[in-house]
Amino acid sequence: TDPALIRNFCIIAHIDHGKSTLADRMLQLTGVVEQRQMRAQYLDRMDIERERGITIKSQAVRLPWAPTGGEDGTPGATHVLNMIDTPGHVDFTYEVSRSLAACEACVLLVDAAQGIEAQTLANLYLAMEHDLTIIPVLNKIDLPAAQPEKFAAELAHLIGCEPSDVLKVSAKTGEGVGELLDKVVEVTPPPVGDKDAPARAMIFDSVYDAYRGVVTYVKVVDGHLGKRERIRMMSTGAAHELLEIGVSSPEMKPADGLGVGEVGYLITGVKDVRQSKVGDTVTLLNKGAEEPLGGYKDPKPMVFSGLYPLDGSDYPELRDALDKLQLNDAALVYEPETSAALGFGFRVGFLGLLHLDVIRERLEREFGLDLIATAPNVIYRVIMEDGTEHTVTNPSEFPTGKIAEVFEPVVRATLLAPSEFIGAIMELCQSRRGTLLGMDYLSEDRVELRYTLPLAEIVFDFFDALKSKTRGYASLDYEPTGEQSADLVKVDILLHGDKVDAFSAITHKEKAYAYGVRLVGKLRELIPRQNFEVPIQAAIGSRVIARETVRAIRKDVLAKCYGGDISRKRKLLEKQKEGKKRMKMVGNVEVPQEAFIAVLSSD
Ligand code: GDP
Ligand code: MG
Repeated sequence: TDPALIRNFCIIAHIDHGKSTLADRMLQLTGVVEQRQMRAQYLDRMDIERERGITIKSQAVRLPWAPTGGEDGTPGATHVLNMIDTPGHVDFTYEVSRSLAACEACVLLVDAAQGIEAQTLANLYLAMEHDLTIIPVLNKIDLPAAQPEKFAAELAHLIGCEPSDVLKVSAKTGEGVGELLDKVVEVTPPPVGDKDAPARAMIFDSVYDAYRGVVTYVKVVDGHLGKRERIRMMSTGAAHELLEIGVSSPEMKPADGLGVGEVGYLITGVKDVRQSKVGDTVTLLNKGAEEPLGGYKDPKPMVFSGLYPLDGSDYPELRDALDKLQLNDAALVYEPETSAALGFGFRVGFLGLLHLDVIRERLEREFGLDLIATAPNVIYRVIMEDGTEHTVTNPSEFPTGKIAEVFEPVVRATLLAPSEFIGAIMELCQSRRGTLLGMDYLSEDRVELRYTLPLAEIVFDFFDALKSKTRGYASLDYEPTGEQSADLVKVDILLHGDKVDAFSAITHKEKAYAYGVRLVGKLRELIPRQNFEVPIQAAIGSRVIARETVRAIRKDVLAKCYGGDISRKRKLLEKQKEGKKRMKMVGNVEVPQEAFIAVLSSD
C-alpha cells in the first residue's frame, strides 16, 4: 500500500468511556466484520476481558475506508486505517504506551455524561509525548444525562482547540462514527519512512497462541518485510524465518509482505513472547539495519504476592500454569518460595493489583487451581549500618540486623473530582502519607489534585476508599516516580510463640500498632480452640505490640457416644479426620485454611 493512503491511529480514553464499543462500530461500518458475526466488544477476546468488560490486551485492526469526497458526496480514494484499541486501566499503561508508538494520531474519547477523568489526562499526556495528532471526541451523546456543550468546552480548553473542533458521537447508535472516520483520514499524518532503507519494524505486541506459537505485531517503519525472508531481532541477534506475514482485519490474513507504515503480524514459530520482545526492532538477516528504532522501557513489576496451592500436591501444576501465562505476559515474573505456614509456592511480581487479580483468576479458572495469595506488598530497599544493601520483595525476608535506612517506592498520583470533594480527598491522601504537589481547576466545578504517595499506601484499598469518600466521582491515575526514605518496620505475627511468615508485613512505624491489633483480633476469631491455650501476638522484633489468647478446651466428642454404638463412633472419628485435612499445622497449632484466606483478603 502507498504510505500516502495509510492512517495509523488509536483510541484512548478513561475506562468505560466507550473505546471498545466505538471500535465495534468501526468494524461494522467499514464492513470488516459481518453483521451476523458482530458481538459486543468484538476485540476483547479473553474470557476475563469479556466478563469484566475491560480490555487487557491491545489489538490492531486494518480497516478499509473511503472518506466522503468533495461537495457532491462521492467517495474518495480507499484508505487503509490501522486502528489500535487500547486498555484503559492504570496497570496496563505500558500497553497504551506501546500502542501509541505505532500511531500517528489518536482519538481521545470522553464520555459526554462524565467529562474528563484521570486516565483521560494520563493518556493525553502520553499521546503528547509521542507527538500524536489528537482528535477530541465526545461519546455517548445519546444519553439523556449527556452534556456535550459543557464537556466540549472543557476538552477544548484542555487541549487548546475550539469547542467546535470536538466531534460528537454515539458508539452505541453509530451516530457520528462515519464523520469521525472521515476526520481520521483528513487529519492523521500519513506514516513517514524510507522504503529503500534496510527494513526496520517495531514490535508493539507479542501474543502467544497455542496453535501458532508467538504472533508478533509490528509496524514497519522503513523498508519491506516479505514472506519466507529471514529476520533478525536486533536486541538479541536471534534469527528466525518468517513462516507467515499478514494483517489482521480482524482475523489474521496472510499477505506477501508489509511495507512502510503498514501494521501487521509475523509468525516465526518461536514459542515464548520473551524471544519476540515488545519494543524490539525487527530487521532482515541479510543487509539488515544497523541502528534499532527507539524502544520502550520494560514493564517493571511493582507489586508482589506469594501464590500457594491450597493443595500442596498442585505445586507442579501451578509452576506449569505460570510458565504458560508468562509465554504471553512479559510483565509477569516469579520465583519459587517456601513458607513455613503455606508450604511450597511462588513469589510473583505484578504491574499492579488488577494485574494480580487477572492472573490469579486465570490460574484458578483456566488451570483449575485453588490458590492462597498472600497480602500484596511493594519492593523495599534496605541499607544496613555496615553498608550492605538488601532488596526485599517478601516481608518475611526483611533483615533483622542494624538497619540504617529503608526506601520505599513512591508514585505521582493525579486525582480528578468535582470540587466539593477536595476536603475528603485531601484527608484521605494525608492519612496515606501523601504530599500535595499542586492543584488546578479544570473548570469551575472540577479540580485536579496531584500528590506524591507511597505505592504501598495505594496498592491495597486506596481506590475503594477514594470511591466511597467521593460517591464514585473521583478518578485516579498514578505513575512510579522513584523512592523515598521512610520510617518502616516489620510486624510479625506469632502463634503460640512461632512466627507465621505469611502474616508478616512491612508498615510505617505509626501504623504498626493498628495493623498488629487488627490482625491479632481477626485471628482470634478464626482460630478454633485447641487442647491448649494459644497466645496470638504481634511483635516488632522482640517487642510485643498486641496480644490475644485462644483459650483451651478439651473437646472430647467421643464422650457423647455412650453405649456401644461402634459405627457411630467410627463415623465421628472419620468426620474429625476430614475436618483436619483442611487445617494447616503452624508449629503445633492447627489453623484452618479459611483463616489464612480471611486474614489475607483485603477487607
Ligand atoms: P471501554 O472501557 O472504554 O472499552 O468502554 P466500553 O466500550 O466497554 O463501554 C463501557 C460501557 O459504556 C458499556 O456498557 C457500553 O455499552 C457503554 N457505551 C459505550 N458507548 C456508548 C454510547 O455511545 N452510548 C451509551 N448509551 N452507552 C455506551
Ligand atoms: Mg474496552
